[in-house]
Amino acid sequence: MTKQSIIAIDGPAASGKSTLAFLLAKKLGYLYFDTGLMYRAITWQALHKEVDVSNESEVTKLANETVIEVLPSSVEDGRPCDVIIEEQDITWEIKKPVVEGSVSVVAAYPGVRAALTAQQRRIGLRGNVVMVGRDIGTVVLPDADLKIYLDASAEERARRRFSEMQSRGESADYAQILAKVIERDQIDSNREVAPLKPASDAVVINSSEMDIDAVLNFVLGLLK
Ligand code: C5P
Repeated sequence: MTKQSIIAIDGPAASGKSTLAFLLAKKLGYLYFDTGLMYRAITWQALHKEVDVSNESEVTKLANETVIEVLPSSVEDGRPCDVIIEEQDITWEIKKPVVEGSVSVVAAYPGVRAALTAQQRRIGLRGNVVMVGRDIGTVVLPDADLKIYLDASAEERARRRFSEMQSRGESADYAQILAKVIERDQIDSNREVAPLKPASDAVVINSSEMDIDAVLNFVLGLLK
């Protein structure tokens, strides 16, 4: 296997990119780093502090002030890592619909992106990392050794998210999830700064008809 020290994985909501990145990192002994967690954590913090998420300057101020800790998982409940803000474990809180409903608005603010991109780049450039997000191959780590853009139809992505929520015992409504997935894609793809799109040198994989093992094997094949 040739040395591919920095691997960037981008794609739309619920495309399976985090699972792929996690498994790949485990296989290679690399750090798994999911940048979506950071945008979710800032959104959670804004809601928690009762900052209006449509107030760009207040949310940007929070992004610059808040220390987000991403640590190896301390609890065996299916989490890939712990996400902590001010000593509070928010790992599952940030997955909730209330955060998901506002995260794309927060992530579109240039000042929020500048604050988080700088932190992500610092971690990524240390190497031996699989970093996952929307703009890793295009903006955060444009010189990554391998760039993957993982896509799937909106219906398939909503179906996967629906099953995930059901398996966690949460109530889930497929039509509502689909509508939210489409809405989030639209905001992420149309924002001015670092919109969701494949890097020109990314390998685009449509996983609508592939399970996670097939995707992982395909990517491992690319590394050979
Ligand atoms: O990947 P995940 O669904 O957890 O990301 C949550 C949201 O964070 C995305 O919908 C997007 O708005 C934002 N995001 C981003 N850039 C990244 C990672 C996530 O804008 N690199």
